[in-house]
Amino acid sequence: MSDMSVPKTPRIWQLAERRYRLIGSKCLKCGRVFVGSRKVCPQCGSRELEDVELSRKGKIYSYTVIRASPMEREKYGPYIMAIVELDDGCKLTTEIVDCSPEEIDIGTEVEATFRKIGEESKSGVIYYACKFRPVAKGV
Ligand SMILES: [Zn+2]
Repeated sequence: MSDMSVPKTPRIWQLAERRYRLIGSKCLKCGRVFVGSRKVCPQCGSRELEDVELSRKGKIYSYTVIRASPMEREKYGPYIMAIVELDDGCKLTTEIVDCSPEEIDIGTEVEATFRKIGEESKSGVIYYACKFRPVAKGV
């Protein structure tokens, strides 16, 4: 890949656009919604699924504060991993950001936020991670 003549800006935006949505799959047979793009329904085995955009809001179903940090985490201190139940019923494991462990609890309302976690400068690819943060109250 030595040909760098392709302008990379459109590609960045294209990727960003896709990353900024939460994609799930809805089974057309049993109606269940799952996180991520699936070919086969884990619930009923149907292959008739369609991509859907998941709700970006939900609430904390359970969480764990991780204090035994890996090396790259040391400068950030403890972080919160949670299972979030989205408004449309599916659950995903994610990191809770923009708050301290004391500010959240089971049932705290959260919303998706997208964080740039890295960039491959040669190809122009930007990596995003979907994390969640508490919904701002009356701000
Ligand atoms: Zn199904």
